[in-house]
Amino acid sequence: MSTELDAPTLHAAADRHLLSPMLGERRMIYTRGEGCRLWDADGREYLDAISGTNGVALVGHAHPRVAEAVATQFRQLSSTFLNAASPAVIELAERISATAPTGPSKTYLCPGGGEAVEAALKLAMRITGRGEVFSLHGGYHGTGFGGLGLLGLPKVREWFPGGIRWPTFQQVPNADPYRSSLGVGDDWRPAARALEAAIDSGTYNNVAAVILELVQGPGGHVAFPVDYVREVRRITERRGVLLIVDEVQTALARCGAMWCTDLYGIKPDIVTIGKAWGGGFPFGAVIADAELITPEIEADPWHVVTFQNQPLQAAAALAVMDIVEEEGLVARCAELGRHATGRFEEMAARHAVIGEVRGPGLFIGVDLVVDRDSREPATEACRTAIDQALDLGVLTYFGGAGNVLKFKPPAVTSSEDVDAMLDLCEELIAQVGSAVANGRTGGRPDPMAAAT
Ligand code: PMP
Repeated sequence: MSTELDAPTLHAAADRHLLSPMLGERRMIYTRGEGCRLWDADGREYLDAISGTNGVALVGHAHPRVAEAVATQFRQLSSTFLNAASPAVIELAERISATAPTGPSKTYLCPGGGEAVEAALKLAMRITGRGEVFSLHGGYHGTGFGGLGLLGLPKVREWFPGGIRWPTFQQVPNADPYRSSLGVGDDWRPAARALEAAIDSGTYNNVAAVILELVQGPGGHVAFPVDYVREVRRITERRGVLLIVDEVQTALARCGAMWCTDLYGIKPDIVTIGKAWGGGFPFGAVIADAELITPEIEADPWHVVTFQNQPLQAAAALAVMDIVEEEGLVARCAELGRHATGRFEEMAARHAVIGEVRGPGLFIGVDLVVDRDSREPATEACRTAIDQALDLGVLTYFGGAGNVLKFKPPAVTSSEDVDAMLDLCEELIAQVGSAVANGRTGGRPDPMAAAT
């Protein structure tokens, strides 16, 4: 490949040699990142309102302390055999245990969120000796074959025309207070009863676990009521069914709390994490209530990948945890989140296309609708909005039915830069509003929309 960094040469080489999923008409090539900014190969600057892929850059792009921690670890010990340990890995597991929503925990590290979910499923099966798993409509848990079996987004399934599904995995209706699939408005009880009935009449009477996101990110920032989640915990606990909370997007300050679970006051059995913890280094982890783990389980090959429990990912995560603590990023996410939510709500007075603004913290989704009464998603009007955002110089993405604008900038973003991002988002929302006014309504949800 050419070593020249001029944009046309890079684009031509990428077109020839790079194998890309989700490649749109416009391929972005970024050459540099710092804090909340990225620069492309043409030298254009962008404000990143989505922190890399949905929250990875919580501490900002290319944080020097993460870079230094990874480099130092690499010089000292860059990898180990997969069933060995090393000081950084041990320290990280210990620090996670001190704060984990499971209570004292044991942690398994792997290279990504989807991998963590695959591992968590197998661990739950190994612990319970059962095989069925329930997940929720609207849920997203990665694109491994296990994760696909959990997927509650039928459009994303269309990527896989063979209709691959793990036969013992099923989805049940969720308690989405804004668009209830059960037609019960914001009453969460019918969704809880549906889950209970599904478990009790379970196909094989063999339920290992229920897995859910507390706030469904890819599914469109659907934030579940606290009482619903507590009821799910009661339903699972009473039956000895494990509860896996997927915090791949929501953990580590993002929601204005160390863990999103803290906002719900429940104790899950297993938690999965990823994204922000690596500060850009590939990271995923399964955190399990230590009481569930026996020596027999640990002797068993319940999940095996080359890059499990490796020192580099641990070194990156330790640096990220230090930054979160020292820079007070939990409080900062809460503060910036309040400010941004307030500004989006003000915008709603000017733009009828805004149906609802949903938090928590700095994990914000702005649901754009054709009409506030019908709440029909403004899917068609948003179809080109990602490119329009790029033209404006802000990076965002759309979830749900392709109509939920995601706002989750790095927690280290200055108040001025957050306001600049919000100004650009308002311009974008105005453009979507004009498209709706010009009759760009309807449209099938873009299967890409909910991805990531
Ligand atoms: N779970 C959730 C809730 C996610 O949002 C994602 C990724 N967006 C995953 C799992 C999968 O993580 P990864 O893409 O790192 O495999």
